[in-house]
Amino acid sequence: MSTADAIVLCERCGARCKVGDKRNPDAKMLRLSREPKGLCVNCATHDWLRNTYPVNMQVAESGPGILVHPHIRKIFGDLMQAAGADAKLDEINWNLVNENWDLPFPHKIKPSATNPCSQEQLDEITAGKYKAIDCPPVGELPTEET
Ligand SMILES: [Zn+2]
Repeated sequence: MSTADAIVLCERCGARCKVGDKRNPDAKMLRLSREPKGLCVNCATHDWLRNTYPVNMQVAESGPGILVHPHIRKIFGDLMQAAGADAKLDEINWNLVNENWDLPFPHKIKPSATNPCSQEQLDEITAGKYKAIDCPPVGELPTEET
């Protein structure tokens, strides 16, 4: 059995996934895994949303309900196309993205040069401690209650 025929379970939601065989190594988002492991397209979509600044702050504040709007999905589809994504917009089941919103991920968000937000900061925005637009400059968000 070649890798492309392998069936694996999504590391987050447990959905059965078929490993793709035509991978764009230059895809900037929603790229097929090189190995038979990883996230399904729905969980990978949420993972992209939570790791991409400033989208992650806006979605943390609004919740996944914002994803039901057709114009938001259109923008997401345009981004996917521009990024050379392996996934296609109509492969994403937005209802499942929404239903599985609170499932934990197998890995935490790591702040980076392109994403200065940590999981704790996003959780504070979700909890209403901050509004995304009113957030202090990156790196100045407190990490503990005082
Ligand atoms: Zn999944």
